[in-house]
Amino acid sequence: MNPHIQTICAHAGATPDPQTGAVSNPLYFSSTFHYKPTGEYPTGDIYSRESNPTRTALEKILAQLEMGEDAAAFASGSAAASAVFQSLRPGDHLIVNFDAYSGVRAMLRGIFIPWGLQVTFTDLSEAANLEKAIQSNTKMVWTESPTNPQMRIVDLRSLIEISRQRNLMVAVDNTFATPAFQNPITMGADIVMHSTTKYLGGHSDLTGGALVTAKRSEQWQRIRHIQHIQGAIPAPFDCWLLMRGIRSFVPRITQHVCNAKAIAAFLATHPKVDRVLYPGLSTHPGHEVAKKQMSDFGAMVSFLVKGTRQEAINITQRAKVFVNATSLGGTESLIEHRKVVEGPDSPTPDHLIRLSVGIEDVNVLIEDLKQALN
Ligand SMILES: *Cc1c(COP(=O)(O)O)cnc(C)c1O
Repeated sequence: MNPHIQTICAHAGATPDPQTGAVSNPLYFSSTFHYKPTGEYPTGDIYSRESNPTRTALEKILAQLEMGEDAAAFASGSAAASAVFQSLRPGDHLIVNFDAYSGVRAMLRGIFIPWGLQVTFTDLSEAANLEKAIQSNTKMVWTESPTNPQMRIVDLRSLIEISRQRNLMVAVDNTFATPAFQNPITMGADIVMHSTTKYLGGHSDLTGGALVTAKRSEQWQRIRHIQHIQGAIPAPFDCWLLMRGIRSFVPRITQHVCNAKAIAAFLATHPKVDRVLYPGLSTHPGHEVAKKQMSDFGAMVSFLVKGTRQEAINITQRAKVFVNATSLGGTESLIEHRKVVEGPDSPTPDHLIRLSVGIEDVNVLIEDLKQALN
């Protein structure tokens, strides 16, 4: 982990307020700001859809966390992704990892492909597939790594190198890796996206999204314009809550990962488990690449059970400490059968169970999985 991350997080939003000395960031609920009849607005804010001091404070932290020049906060991770896709133009071609987050796939299929975006879904964990998918009108590559929920690892450095040669922008959904363990901008990515609903918020109590840009490019100006003019912005309170969550992000994620490794090791030896999908295991096909591009492997663990879809569902039903719920990244452990949530056209296997490993005592979690599997 980059040592700066710890300091950025511990101080998130805690620059003493010059007017009051407040160490915790003030929360500005105002939707509008006084400006001069001549048109100047001396504080830099005029209307909260465009900017609000609480959101600006959050955006600064997000930019620092991903080592970018600027960041934009959104009402959800999906709103953030949507702003990126909209910054392209009808007729442009986009390449996306085929096992991307189901909401992103649904958004592309249901909204952006009818709007005129051309999209190729391909397995980007196989380097050769990227070259094969590139067309003359390709503008951007969008990928996750690890992917949700199949935990494939995409070699980001080689994907970025190929994309650079072909003049393609690269956007990385870094939600699963988190800024603690992977910083795509330092590897040459143009844009990093987060669902801040997940680890950065960390308490399953807010919905938010973020985009961080390497450079204040022309594309970034378009994205900012979409944020301002379409207004899928987070409310000041959600920005404040997210800054509060970010303060404890490092100790939380440290505990999450520690527990996840123990659980992955436990599942790997269990007779009812066919395969554990966790990049921290040396048996994972993406392990070597993950080791090169991540400083640790994150806390999402998927596994394939030996048995039918129904048997997998039964396991999730028997869990007591793991809560059967979607989403991830909160302090509490969650379990779910992804295919049930994603629907029949999802590429997720029928016998896949996804765990968001929380920060409870790890032995309690392992005991819970033991009884659920039996
Ligand atoms: C949750 C998630 C999203 C969508 O974010 P929302 O905040 O739910 O809109 C996008 N990508 C990944 C990898 C996610 O896990």
